[in-house]
Amino acid sequence: MIAVRVGHLYPDYLNIYADRGNIAVLARRAAWRGLAVELEAIGVGDPLDPDAHDLLYVGGGQDREQALIAPDLAARGDALLAAAATGTPVLAVCGGYQLLGRFYRERSGQELPGAGVFPLHTVAGERRMIGDVLLECELEPGERRTLAGFENHAGRTRLDADATPLGRVVAGFGNDGESGYEGCRVGNALGTYLHGPLLPRNPWLADWLLARAVERRTGERPSFEPLADDLEREAHAVSARRARHRGGRF
Ligand code: GLN
Repeated sequence: MIAVRVGHLYPDYLNIYADRGNIAVLARRAAWRGLAVELEAIGVGDPLDPDAHDLLYVGGGQDREQALIAPDLAARGDALLAAAATGTPVLAVCGGYQLLGRFYRERSGQELPGAGVFPLHTVAGERRMIGDVLLECELEPGERRTLAGFENHAGRTRLDADATPLGRVVAGFGNDGESGYEGCRVGNALGTYLHGPLLPRNPWLADWLLARAVERRTGERPSFEPLADDLEREAHAVSARRARHRGGRF
């Protein structure tokens, strides 16, 4: 049986909004495809070998938790870039997304260093951006998909001019409430503000990540048989509807 090695960075610190649900979805969908998942928690000071994982995950957390792990995460920049350069899929959510950029400047003015995987920086604004979000993404040319989720962040994330966003905002705030874009993509590394958690309502993204993790492991990208996903489709529809009806912005 093929085992997909998942590295979960700082599960004890970056874990708000049931971010662990994303890992549960990956593990369950892997099992339905006859794949095993070996989950490794990576905490402060633990070694990170760029070849040791087929998928890396960083969840969300508030400023306090981010400050506790930021120096350790920033010091892993080279290892994370090396992992991403070999095609390791990465999913970074909210607080983790911010810290995979160059820096996150808190309201107090304190600047937390980032790992520099994503070409962006984040500066906290006065009002929080909270609510359901709907995005349109095209991770594969010609394959348009929607992502539905929930955002809650004070940080305004500014992408570099040549950076690729994860998706276009159909409803919600996204990276900064202005650009009309959400998240960032560098190869198979994805960063996003969407949690709540993300993968249970967007199973296509779980499969996208899983297929790339298997490819990282075996050298071949599998094409998965579709699953029934009735509940998941319903969850996506409810979330998308809420986002569409959420009213104005600030
Ligand atoms: N501290 C960050 C912000 O508020 C991230 C919040 C989060 O992960 N929900 O912008």
